[in-house]
Amino acid sequence: MTNPLLDDWTTPFGLPPFDVISDDDFAPAVDAALAESRANIAAIAENPDAPDFANTIEALERADDTLGRVLGVFYNLAGADSNPAREALQRTFAPLLSAYGSEVSENKALFARVEAVWENRDTLDLTDEQQRVLMLTRRGFVRSGANLAGKAAEDLRAVKSRLSVLGTEFTQNLLADEREWFMVLGADDLAGLPDFVVATAKAAGAEKDAGGPIVTLSRSLIVPFLQFSERRDLRQKAYEAWGARGANGGETDNRGIAAETLKLRQDRARLLGYDSFADFKLETEMAGTPKAVRDLLMQVWEPAKAAAEADAAILEKMLHADGFDGQLEPWDWRFYAEKRRKELHDLDEAELKPYLQLDRMIEAAFACANRLFGLEFAPFAGPAYHPDVRMWDVSRDGEHVAVFIGDYFARGSKRSGAWCSAMRSQQRLSGDIRPHVVNVCNFAKPEAGKPALLSYDDARTLFHEFGHALHQMLSDVTYESISGTSVARDFVELPSQLYEHWLDVPEVLSEFATHAETGAPMPEDLLNRMLGAATYDMGFQTVEYVASALVDLGFHDGPAAADPMQRQAEILEEIGMPHAIRMRHATPHFAHVFAGDGYSSGYYSYMWSEVMDADAFAAFEEAGNPFDPETAKLLEDTVLSSGGSVDAAELYKAFRGRLPGVEALLKGRGLDKAA
Ligand SMILES: [Zn+2]
Repeated sequence: MTNPLLDDWTTPFGLPPFDVISDDDFAPAVDAALAESRANIAAIAENPDAPDFANTIEALERADDTLGRVLGVFYNLAGADSNPAREALQRTFAPLLSAYGSEVSENKALFARVEAVWENRDTLDLTDEQQRVLMLTRRGFVRSGANLAGKAAEDLRAVKSRLSVLGTEFTQNLLADEREWFMVLGADDLAGLPDFVVATAKAAGAEKDAGGPIVTLSRSLIVPFLQFSERRDLRQKAYEAWGARGANGGETDNRGIAAETLKLRQDRARLLGYDSFADFKLETEMAGTPKAVRDLLMQVWEPAKAAAEADAAILEKMLHADGFDGQLEPWDWRFYAEKRRKELHDLDEAELKPYLQLDRMIEAAFACANRLFGLEFAPFAGPAYHPDVRMWDVSRDGEHVAVFIGDYFARGSKRSGAWCSAMRSQQRLSGDIRPHVVNVCNFAKPEAGKPALLSYDDARTLFHEFGHALHQMLSDVTYESISGTSVARDFVELPSQLYEHWLDVPEVLSEFATHAETGAPMPEDLLNRMLGAATYDMGFQTVEYVASALVDLGFHDGPAAADPMQRQAEILEEIGMPHAIRMRHATPHFAHVFAGDGYSSGYYSYMWSEVMDADAFAAFEEAGNPFDPETAKLLEDTVLSSGGSVDAAELYKAFRGRLPGVEALLKGRGLDKAA
């Protein structure tokens, strides 16, 4: 019997034949594909011919073609439509794939060939793109330790394995502390809480058999409690418990883990020949160096702090008017900011919702892509993995560009959040391969016959993920390893966050934000309140975020601190942290930085991307037209079509003529007025 995952696919556009694939097909397909990959790797490493670009680097690009095709289907399903069988397969595949990855990166004969091609690079007449792929391939080997031998190689292996144990412990301790703490609310303790908070608190109490409503440390409960509770004493108690996660002493305390992690990261960087862990981490990023990151963060920090301090003075007056003496405290901020928000930008979600229909917002995202890049979207019926999935043939001037797949509604089998993935990426090495791009969201599904309605945040999410999709669909490179969104982490959110700006273009909203029943456009007053509410309290949000990013950077760009809590206090003192705001994530519960490597000395990258998207959209504003054809063409020719074939900073300079400045971000966040 043949396995449909390994057959040729004769479906429209070569989409996976979901109608004939069953869960039982995955394990044998992955086994066969892994065997094929291993044979390919061995053939490259043992090739008797002298190493050259085609027989080594291009051969490596192709080595996992079958594996990539099978896993592209599997991981799409595992995220968007899981079931117990698929969850079990995920647990089976993870160690198999990580073992294969280590085998490849530790293959000395293979690395020797890559190194030989690298050393001869000037004699090989390579294209710019080939030189880039060669550099990235070799760098990947070197960064995982391929250059090390003997004791140094053993030490690196030991450091990496201990780090992964510490990351898991950090996460588990945090979860334990979050589960452990709760505060029961008596009848007198509900003052100020709206019905939805009381309902959530009751549901949480029922789950814990607490005999009444409770506050837990889950963000979705404690944040609204801090916003609405009139009981200052209870706000303080809850806030302090929230801030103490991971620092409660005993078995689940994360402070020792943080110290050991920082020390091991320093060891890892030094074994690989870097001065600091931040130097190691930032080498692959657009920012490049710790100094570039700090410069950018500090340019945002000062105006954000000034704005936050001006807000604090207003909120403190409100506190005093309520009969309290003394300073505004961290557990007061959200409460008084919420009161002030109601006065300034009262926004009734129920009034807004009928204007934001899912189908109209999809049309809006497509219409903008049509005006900017000439793309057309034609729906078609093809093999889908779920009945809610919709597909479009994307074309330009009659030529097929991509398949776009939209999977918008929440369901139990889907993980939370929203994301963009490619079941197949664009490349030309194995023929003219056009991408299959999926946007997955978790919007509430309407009752049968009713239109699906979105919140403004949902609509932003739709545009955001569609921006990632454009980055995949407009990709125009030869090699898959640098295709579409395969770019630096601090660059990958540029196309997505940039696309959100078109949702806020008034002519887009007035055309597409129409009432579900009457068809009337959104009234201007409502539109203004909606846009105003979205940028409210930015001083606070920017300060709590940037402080965390500066502490993350301070931990990694010098010698490891023996006492991270003391180092954290010193950094906050140096930057003059406002009294009533604390870090968004303090060290003992800073999972971005300590639960794994992902965002360590990388927490800054959200802000980095936002600086870029604001600055990039300003190019359209300067042209006097949000759809300026020349600017759009330049955006496609540089950022959107190049994937990782060119260094991110070079791409940005090619688009904008210079590196991004912070002015547009400060203006967008309303922080330009306070300083
Ligand atoms: Zn994103």
